Amino acid sequence: MECRLGCGACCIAPSISSPIPGMPEGKKAGERCIQLDENNLCKLFGKPERPKVCGLFKPCPDVCGHTQQEAITLITELEQLT
Ligand code: SF4
Ligand code: SF4
Repeated sequence: MECRLGCGACCIAPSISSPIPGMPEGKKAGERCIQLDENNLCKLFGKPERPKVCGLFKPCPDVCGHTQQEAITLITELEQLT
């Protein structure tokens, strides 16, 4: 599947342990990434400062669901398994 531009669920729901510019400790689950703009697009997309882990995350229906809310729910559930 293609990423739903403007979704941003994977930049909110999961915890990210690697440093993000502006968030040196990474981010907690459910915390909005500081680099996510008002249109839910990554301000660092295509830039070398974007954390590697973000580029490795690939959209897939099991994680992204059909809507942003579904993705938030699915990713939050997956977080709790780890
Ligand atoms: S959760 Fe999936 S659809 Fe939403 S922004 Fe992330 S990769 Fe794209
Ligand atoms: S750096 Fe960009 S892709 Fe990574 S979590 Fe933040 S907004 Fe999302």
